[in-house]
Amino acid sequence: MTDPLADAEPQPYWLTQPGAPEPAAPLRAAESADLAVVGAGYSGLWTALLAKERDPDTDVVVLEAGTAGWAASGRNGGFCSASLTHGFENGLRRFPDEMPTLEKLGQANLDEIEATVQRYGIDCFFERTGELVVATAAWQLREMTPGNHRPGVTLLDRDAVRAEVDSPTYLGGVWDRAGCAMLDPARLVWGLRRACLRLGVRLYEHTPVERIVPRPDGLTLRTPHGSATARRVALATGAHGSAGRGALLRRLRHYVVPVYDYALMTEPLTGAQLASVGWRHRQGLGDGANQFHYYRLSADNRILWGGYDAVYYRGGRITPARDQREATFRLLARHFAETFPQLAGIRFTHRWGGVIDACSRFSGFFGTAHSGRLAYAAGYTGLGVGASRFGANVMLDLLGGEPTELTRLKMVRRRPVPFPPEPVRTGVIQLTRRSIARADRDEGRRNLWLRTLDRMGVGFDS
Ligand SMILES: Cc1cc2nc3c(=O)[nH]c(=O)nc-3n(C[C@H](O)[C@H](O)[C@H](O)COP(=O)(O)OP(=O)(O)OC[C@H]3O[C@@H](n4cnc5c(N)ncnc54)[C@H](O)[C@@H]3O)c2cc1C
Repeated sequence: MTDPLADAEPQPYWLTQPGAPEPAAPLRAAESADLAVVGAGYSGLWTALLAKERDPDTDVVVLEAGTAGWAASGRNGGFCSASLTHGFENGLRRFPDEMPTLEKLGQANLDEIEATVQRYGIDCFFERTGELVVATAAWQLREMTPGNHRPGVTLLDRDAVRAEVDSPTYLGGVWDRAGCAMLDPARLVWGLRRACLRLGVRLYEHTPVERIVPRPDGLTLRTPHGSATARRVALATGAHGSAGRGALLRRLRHYVVPVYDYALMTEPLTGAQLASVGWRHRQGLGDGANQFHYYRLSADNRILWGGYDAVYYRGGRITPARDQREATFRLLARHFAETFPQLAGIRFTHRWGGVIDACSRFSGFFGTAHSGRLAYAAGYTGLGVGASRFGANVMLDLLGGEPTELTRLKMVRRRPVPFPPEPVRTGVIQLTRRSIARADRDEGRRNLWLRTLDRMGVGFDS
């Protein structure tokens, strides 16, 4: 049998597509602005765009260390979820009184993303397909009760789920039709970038901010060949600028750990191959295990297959070499073959990894520094495609200084439990990972360690 990974390029499929914009010039002067945004992933681009939409006269500058979307925003699974809380269950556990509001805000956020995509003509193949979570073990099926999900989801038995997407591993599923859209992540970045430029945002790429210097009237952001001084600053730096040595704001290091997530992309399926799987409704799929896979169709009917291994490397350093992990790619390819035996012989064309900004409550957190002149959003833990737009609105509200519906939320006011410092951090995370893997093998039963973490309201996820 030929090796399905033999020709897989070590690149994120989405970012290799035609249509990437020419990089903007780096900053080589002393700039000033009303608002300076650090980072041009979704968080930064949404912040810049929303600032302009709120007030077109606001002068906005964006400084990006690489090119827009090169990091998590251009290489993710493209599941654009309404959930602001990394799923309904996680939200219910952490913010029970606020869940109706958070659900309402999350749904409105998703609707507004769709409206923005239409308003600016962003060709990111936005498809409101919903998400189907499948049970691949009896314990997962038992947990698929209506109380564990958003109201309005459809529970499917084995035959019904296999009529949607056919795999011999499926025992049942839950289809949330309204709560998730699928999109092409890099094309969303490129479209948001274009929309920002159209509204007059000034973007500098290959411009890492090295230092933040307080001034009487604002903050100066120092970069290798220039600087930007602004009354207000939004820090939208994702895992690369929030975790470990890359953290511009030191306090974020306590809350964010860089977790690597990996994915494969197949060649486009033929009509016959696609028919053998079904998938007429093109939903995003995930399985109900703690260590879960996520998978979906691209516009040209490739299958993106990712997840399962969420890797925290000892010491938490981020290096480009870690974007590739042979053992994980092999494991993912094996799981793919077990899930879709009818696709035997299909080849993977791309394999890649990326860093997630994980925090102990699995959902974004927010705050201010430098006497309210800087706001930050971080910690989306692998579910930031949709939630980062909400986070952008939170940052702008925090910088506005007046209380708003968003800034009054407990979710916004409270910070996650910090991670312990190294080397304890690595030990705690590896113990948690091993316990999670054991729970998946042992009918979902959580050992004493996981139950203790549950009681403390902390954990590890991707
Ligand atoms: C493999 C993978 C799959 C994923 N799948 C999904 C999914 O299906 N659905 C979902 O909702 N989420 C998913 N995620 C998570 C999602 O991609 C992120 O939550 C989201 O992209 C975060 O956006 P961001 O703008 O906060 O961070 P990023 O995209 O990381 O952007 C931050 C930017 O800040 C820049 N920066 C950092 N420091 C500095 C500095 N000092 N100066 C200037 N610029 C700086 C970086 O260069 C970077 O471009 C996935 C992530 C990965 C890695």
